[in-house]
Amino acid sequence: MIINMRERASDEQIQHIIDRVKEAGFQAHITRGSERTIVAAVGSGGRRHELEALAAAAGVEEVVPIAQPFKLVSRQVKPQRSVVDVAGVHIGDGSFVVIAGPCSVESEEQLFSTAKAVKAAGAKLLRGGAYKPRTSPYEFQGLGVEALKLLRQVREKFGLPVVTEVMGTEDVEVICEHADMLQVGARNMQNFNLLRRLAKVDKPILLKRGPSASVKEWLLAAEYLLAGGNPNVVLCERGIKTFETETRNTLDLASVALARELSHLPVVADPSHGTGRRSLIPPMSRAAAALGADGLIVEVHPCPERALSDGPQSLDFSAFEGLMRSLAEPLRPEMVKEVKMATV
Ligand code: PEP
Ligand code: MN
Repeated sequence: MIINMRERASDEQIQHIIDRVKEAGFQAHITRGSERTIVAAVGSGGRRHELEALAAAAGVEEVVPIAQPFKLVSRQVKPQRSVVDVAGVHIGDGSFVVIAGPCSVESEEQLFSTAKAVKAAGAKLLRGGAYKPRTSPYEFQGLGVEALKLLRQVREKFGLPVVTEVMGTEDVEVICEHADMLQVGARNMQNFNLLRRLAKVDKPILLKRGPSASVKEWLLAAEYLLAGGNPNVVLCERGIKTFETETRNTLDLASVALARELSHLPVVADPSHGTGRRSLIPPMSRAAAALGADGLIVEVHPCPERALSDGPQSLDFSAFEGLMRSLAEPLRPEMVKEVKMATV
């Protein structure tokens, strides 16, 4: 349930409602907007009728049920958009943040040269896998702690905050010591033990959508993080499984727009895993920018043909630079001109 406070509700009235929500056996989550405060009562096992009765309390405008199964991530509970701060880089503030780097950290030379190139082209965060979720046990599994150390060095040298994937609860602590943001990979989106553990860390989380997960399931996975105490979550659409075999996955751009409609959390797109084809990354990136995505995560490698993972979907440095240039251009200049002429 949400308790919408009146515009001029006093601090005492708001505190009274928070106390009553807790007394009724729920957790109280407070969103203070510029005009009014919303108190969300979430949890199971509480006494709903006691919440409904709060409609009569001083300072309360209305008490309404939360329409969606996800609560704290919904726009009903928090109408204003969330901004996630990743070591000083703000995702969700209206800018378009590009996260770029290799699929896997392979060597010092590979990581450092990539960091230098993506930073020069305008990327704000560096990605790089240390622990890799590979379909086959015979494929490169990542350099583990050695890669984490390289990520930390590169972060210090280039001032680029780093994002890396956490596959299991046992790695959370060491990754938190080295990285600025932790990625939950698509295959782990519904690893609830991992989500519960990440709800307790003091680092932002990049939550990828599972390849077979609905938007509702994805937002419920995010709910685990928020309900457990970590509000710093960025959603990432990375393609879903469909009947199409020409692309590795089907990048579901509608879900980016939908997730932004249903939730206040920032949403980024991953056109690399979402298509599996380097040629499709620029058009899908521009489409994501056009529909209002909060950013991108893109795979970049100094020599994609030598990459130990995901070479076919990795851009080389000059292709990445071209992508960044194209993102800075107006989408259809001739159309802008025509519309302007038509409206003179
Ligand atoms: C990755 O980012 O390299 C990765 C493995 O992503 P996903 O979990 O989306 O497959
Ligand atoms: Mn990859």
